Amino acid sequence: MHEMALMGEIVQLIEQDARMKNIKYVKKVELVVGTLSNALPDALQFAFDVYKIQEDNCLTTDAELIIHVEKAKAICTICGQQYEPVAKIAQCPTCLLPTGRMVAGETFRILAYEGG
Ligand SMILES: [Zn+2]
Repeated sequence: MHEMALMGEIVQLIEQDARMKNIKYVKKVELVVGTLSNALPDALQFAFDVYKIQEDNCLTTDAELIIHVEKAKAICTICGQQYEPVAKIAQCPTCLLPTGRMVAGETFRILAYEGG
């Protein structure tokens, strides 16, 4: 489960940023997770719940994680059709060729966090 390591990096990034802004604790984190980003929301939530009860980070023990799921979207480079791909190699439903250019759904980023 690589979400554990991924969440560890997120917590570190937030901590660095919070320190610069003189924020001592973080009680809410919002992430954008694409459906094809290789990170599972359930596993991220689990990892977050493990990190927030640890004392050595800025998360409060009742910190909240909000995950905004971004649907995958691809545009066919031949016919221009927009569709929702089910895999990273996007096959156009019209051309039946793997000609889709991914425009959404691979995102994994921190949208916001709140603290004090
Ligand atoms: Zn096409």
